[in-house]
Amino acid sequence: MRRPLVAGNWKMNGTRASVAELTESLRMQDMPTSVEVVVFPCALHVMQVVDGLNGAAIDVGAQDCAADVGFGAFTGEESATQLLDSGCEWVLVGHSERRLIFGESDDVVSKKFVSALECGLTPVLCVGETLEQRQAGKTVEVVARQLAHVLAQAGVQAFGRAVVAYEPVWAIGSGLTASPQQAQEVHAAIRAQLASEDQRIADGIRLLYGGSVKAENAAELFGMADIDGGLIGGASLKANDFGAICRAA
Ligand code: PGA
Repeated sequence: MRRPLVAGNWKMNGTRASVAELTESLRMQDMPTSVEVVVFPCALHVMQVVDGLNGAAIDVGAQDCAADVGFGAFTGEESATQLLDSGCEWVLVGHSERRLIFGESDDVVSKKFVSALECGLTPVLCVGETLEQRQAGKTVEVVARQLAHVLAQAGVQAFGRAVVAYEPVWAIGSGLTASPQQAQEVHAAIRAQLASEDQRIADGIRLLYGGSVKAENAAELFGMADIDGGLIGGASLKANDFGAICRAA
């Protein structure tokens, strides 16, 4: 069946010294071989973490990539081509902080998704509703629209090499977690949307939940039928907590 996946999004955190410490503590964690584990340091620290994890069964990814592949005059950007060259195998695409703080549109997110795949990175497409949208009863509609945009640009077959993370914006970094039932409902809707285009792709894709996942609530969330792991922010900065979450998957 689907192999669980636990991803740690370190966001804009850490210095070379603290990242070295975190990487070393992660190496010491007893990671279950049944679970795939990947961490997403900031782009500056990617090569350091790749080197530091050498030999550990933990992959490294980037938190974002340019919409364009290759090289060019795009000041401040890193292309999927360069991330791959630096040892990344994964990339987050469309994290809500990118969408809401940096104004990334569905169109830009779709381009990044396609670029990542074109270069051989596995994209983790992040989707999720704001509190306002949830209170207006629009959760499934918002998530479906975000997914539909990428589906239209990339095609359903692309999702055979991708992961989708459902992250309700109101649950990110807030200490509020979606209940397992709330999360499951959206995960089931995402899988059904993919199934309406290709049942095999829908059955095979890993759908992660993100938003205040902790060692204490991970097992219950991961126990839901359509939740195949998690995208962990705050708790991924502590190796012991992250290890415990991985062991819960
Ligand atoms: P959090 O972040 O676990 O700190 O809520 C999750 C994320 O933004 O990916």
